[in-house]
Amino acid sequence: MSSTTTKDEALRSATSWMESEHDSGHAGVDSYFGKDVFSHKVMRQRLPKDVYKKLMQTIEHGEPLDRELANVVAVVMKDWAVENGATHYTHWFQPLTGLTAEKHDSLVAPDGEGGMVYALSGSELCQGEPDASSFPSGGLRATFEARGYTAWDATSPAFLLRGENNVTLCIPTAFVSWTGAALDQKTPLLRSMDALAAQAVRVLQLFGTDKGVTRITTTVGAEQEYFLVDRKLFFARPDLVNCDRTLFGTKPPKGQQLDDHYFGSIPRRVLAFMAEAEKEMYRVGIPVKTRHNEVAPGQYEIAPTFETSNVACDHQMVIMETIKRVAPRFGMQAILHEKPFAGLNGSGKHNNWSMSTNTGVNLLDPQDETHTNMQFMVFLCAVIRAVDIHADLLRAAIASAGNDHRLGANEAPPAIISIFLGDMLTDLVEQLEAGAPTRTLKGGEMDLGALSLPQIPRDSGDRNRTSPFAFTGNKFEFRAVGSSATSAWPNTVMNTIVAESIDVIVSRLEAEVGDDRSPENLESCVRKVLQQTVKNHKRVIFNGDGYSDEWHKEAEERGLPNLRSTVDALPKLVDAKSIEMFGKYNVLNEDEVRSRANAYLEKYALQMQIESETMAVIGQQMILPAATEHQRRLASSLQATQAAGVESAGQKAELESFVKLVDNFRSSVEALGAANEHESDGELAHAEYMKETVEPLMDKVREYGDKLETRVASDLWPLPSYRELLFFK
Ligand code: ADP
Ligand code: MG
Repeated sequence: MSSTTTKDEALRSATSWMESEHDSGHAGVDSYFGKDVFSHKVMRQRLPKDVYKKLMQTIEHGEPLDRELANVVAVVMKDWAVENGATHYTHWFQPLTGLTAEKHDSLVAPDGEGGMVYALSGSELCQGEPDASSFPSGGLRATFEARGYTAWDATSPAFLLRGENNVTLCIPTAFVSWTGAALDQKTPLLRSMDALAAQAVRVLQLFGTDKGVTRITTTVGAEQEYFLVDRKLFFARPDLVNCDRTLFGTKPPKGQQLDDHYFGSIPRRVLAFMAEAEKEMYRVGIPVKTRHNEVAPGQYEIAPTFETSNVACDHQMVIMETIKRVAPRFGMQAILHEKPFAGLNGSGKHNNWSMSTNTGVNLLDPQDETHTNMQFMVFLCAVIRAVDIHADLLRAAIASAGNDHRLGANEAPPAIISIFLGDMLTDLVEQLEAGAPTRTLKGGEMDLGALSLPQIPRDSGDRNRTSPFAFTGNKFEFRAVGSSATSAWPNTVMNTIVAESIDVIVSRLEAEVGDDRSPENLESCVRKVLQQTVKNHKRVIFNGDGYSDEWHKEAEERGLPNLRSTVDALPKLVDAKSIEMFGKYNVLNEDEVRSRANAYLEKYALQMQIESETMAVIGQQMILPAATEHQRRLASSLQATQAAGVESAGQKAELESFVKLVDNFRSSVEALGAANEHESDGELAHAEYMKETVEPLMDKVREYGDKLETRVASDLWPLPSYRELLFFK
């Protein structure tokens, strides 16, 4: 057990954070924003003009980079990094662990004369060769074929990672095997962006809106929820230390009933932490925008302004790491798990998604007279079609052990994937189905009734927090993504399924329109094609309460999949329709899809196994000893009472029922321990075993354990309680 603190020590020192230890840092943000990024501006200032121009062509148009050019960029990047204190560089990548990986190499080389020089060659910039055998590959690569390569992703800017006493130049890279198969999150994301761009541009060409458009990209803005707990208390909980979630714990008397935490004033220590974390994010150019308290006590949210998908997804990883890294400086531990506390809200990562042109047009902007905006309607219908056909795949894309606790728990979207469109778009879609849209519903102005308040425009529809996939003004928000997930994978899936649907719709349109590009013909063809699309796929649209039981029934009638657990969902990745689609759009070949499914199943099973083993250990080594000691107290007190010649039926009954509870707890822990001995054959079998056999045993242990918590004397109870964890701020 990695627990190093007892509950008592932890509680005594839990409030030892001193504000005075931290400078309040009032320097203007402009003095450090983006300072640690090898940005376009730095490149323009430092690179020879022709090199800069060629590099921009690579970055903006995806043209391949030649070696000579790379040599020049490497020298300039190295000089810049060294001037800013870097001693090492790393190829920074995202293997399938869900984390980022880095192996540091020195920028320093001996000069042969007893001194040293700084060096970074073009080939070192462009390609690295980490030993890949210890990263999950889901069977793509046997350990004896350990070769893996990292390749520079010039479209995501290099940056400096500052630690205590060290500065490292981080070069974002893709990670592939010796055969070129993707072993990471970034490679398929980049491929999916290309796939979507290739199809979306056909729509623009059809409508003649492609003038000046040289590139279409997808955009992402992810809202990250997380918890903060006192770090001393954290270390007194082996479950939090090992699993990032509590395996025991009764609800505190005061939880989130009063809704007094959401958007409440941010506690001082937390605000100090946020300010410092944001400062570090600003330094590496992450455009952090909002911060606030979330629904549960101890829960918070941070959201950046959206960026191009691959940059946003890289930044998302840095955001998670920065939150984790900075919190301890303020005596806190950040928890990114989807459901750290039973009975309280879990954490998600709302993934806001859209498509835009390099000329700055958001392709999901409905504009004022939406019913005349045929191009928007094509994109909208493509998304509807994609989500309907691949609802199972979207569910699979967000499947994890942690997210299973959250989805469908009446505080997060259900495991049924549906689309919320709101009043205006629903009306529009209904008009499309009927034939010819002729109106756009308007929100109008709201009169607040007080002369001193301004009139504010009303959106044409209310929000719906219960939908997993909602249209929110000019973007879709995929809300079912888990808080600890890498953004890259769900976005890869989204880009690919939408690319496929755009392809299908635009191909039909092109065939229908033929040579007659007159506006009248175009309009009637669009109506015809979209009418059919809406008819076929409107079942996925649902604007009602996603938490309700009625919806579960109705969704079943509509034939929408309800994949309740990761074990149900992940096999959908390798369905023929998924494999075919990923292959057709060159995002993942069959081996790559299968390996990913295996890697995720394995991760699920291992995470569950760590939890169940941790639970057994806490049960045996912490809770049982406390419970038997409490039992001894009850027994000797009963004995003393009787010796004094007093009979207490109540005391006797209390002891009897307590002994029974301890016995139940003991046997449930023993059963769990025995179940943990099992060996499974293969990832799917292991995952199923954990889900079907081990999880119910864990539920039992928890049930008895939590009952014990309410009965054992608090001086004996070995774990800090929910109340202590959540209300120490
Ligand atoms: P909320 O959903 O809480 O109301 P906002 O509307 O402010 O929050 O936006 C949430 C996130 O959506 C932000 O990260 C924002 O940058 C992002 N976002 C806004 N427009 C787009 C877009 N076109 N593409 C992707 N993300 C976007
Ligand atoms: Mg949101």
